[in-house]
Amino acid sequence: MRLFIGIDDTDHPKGGCTTWSSQLLAQNIEAAGAEIIERRLVRLWPFAPRRTRGNGAVCLVVQTNDSSSIIRVVKSWFNSLLRELRDIDQDSHARPGVVILDKQDSDRAYWEAVRNEVQISTLEQKLDDCLINLHHPEGKEGLIGALAAASWSPKVSVTWEAIAWRMESQWGSPRKVSSRCIEILEESHPDTFMNRDPTRGHGLISPRSPCPVLFGIRARSQQAAITAIEHILCSEGTEPPQNYAVFKTNQCSDDHLFGTLKITTMKLPKVHRGGHVTVDTMTTNGPLRIRCFKEGGQLNGAIASLEPGDVAEVLGLHSPNGEFHLERMRVITLAPRNLSRPKCECGKRFRSSGNKGALRCKKCGSTCLRRWGAEIIHPSGWVEPSADHRRHLAKPVAWMGSID
Ligand SMILES: [Zn+2]
Repeated sequence: MRLFIGIDDTDHPKGGCTTWSSQLLAQNIEAAGAEIIERRLVRLWPFAPRRTRGNGAVCLVVQTNDSSSIIRVVKSWFNSLLRELRDIDQDSHARPGVVILDKQDSDRAYWEAVRNEVQISTLEQKLDDCLINLHHPEGKEGLIGALAAASWSPKVSVTWEAIAWRMESQWGSPRKVSSRCIEILEESHPDTFMNRDPTRGHGLISPRSPCPVLFGIRARSQQAAITAIEHILCSEGTEPPQNYAVFKTNQCSDDHLFGTLKITTMKLPKVHRGGHVTVDTMTTNGPLRIRCFKEGGQLNGAIASLEPGDVAEVLGLHSPNGEFHLERMRVITLAPRNLSRPKCECGKRFRSSGNKGALRCKKCGSTCLRRWGAEIIHPSGWVEPSADHRRHLAKPVAWMGSID
């Protein structure tokens, strides 16, 4: 039989990582004679109030003919995780939760948790249907992500991430990852992506937190992820990892979004202290204030340059305070800009000659009909923040329309 083991919220400010916790569990499961068929990493609703770093949850898909022995393994692993957290996470930042499903009959728990805030009270029925659910004594929050990960049924728009974990003796020390790695990935592994931020030039594969992850390589196929990580691991100057595994992910899926929204700019955008931009717009559902953070880079610049009357298509998230947090934008039509009187054939600009009269050229005396001319600006395509300031869930502009 097949088991879906969902795990969430095992990390805390001093370290830890849900992918690493899942690796320890996977080792115990394999030692008990079962097979790990697939590992899945899902990113969830970015505004979740108790979100962990990256807000990711993991699911191990296990093939076994002895589910009760797997349940015993999971319980014992979970108890040792709680013991470990008691010592290092005294403020209970981590509220781990684990569920085991023996069938995936609905992916509703996933869609709820990737697009909305979920209250644990709404999940009681679903949790009762699990083979087991285990949670931290201080709270059940971890069960939300655990259930979402176990319920996710991956569709076409999946990506993959190969994650290498550091030797325990290295945790917390600076990571040794050869600077050649990024070049190797870019030169020899075209199906990997987001290795380097093209606008700043720095590598994106290693986290900056004290967690056990050495690096993660994102790829568009499982095989590409495996080939790339094996190539990188034998490159000189990179610290030897403890081990690695490949996860199927919902990264770059846009699963957190409800679709594009058409907006008309009502007022000039406001640039706030610190560089954030807000702009009041109108949609078919009423007024909407859009916010773009300074980190949005060129997206921030694009929204700041809007003028009243401009029409655009936007993608982003409705934040709990009612604002719309912008992730991508495409201008559809721009209102006329830089109004000026037309030019005369002699090159001089026509001037107004009184309240209602025709326009007159002061140089050659020609006249023309009273009117305004405007600069025509052709809108460019979709604009997004630089790679290191996009959400894990956000689809890169370059892929829009290519996978759905
Ligand atoms: Zn003239």
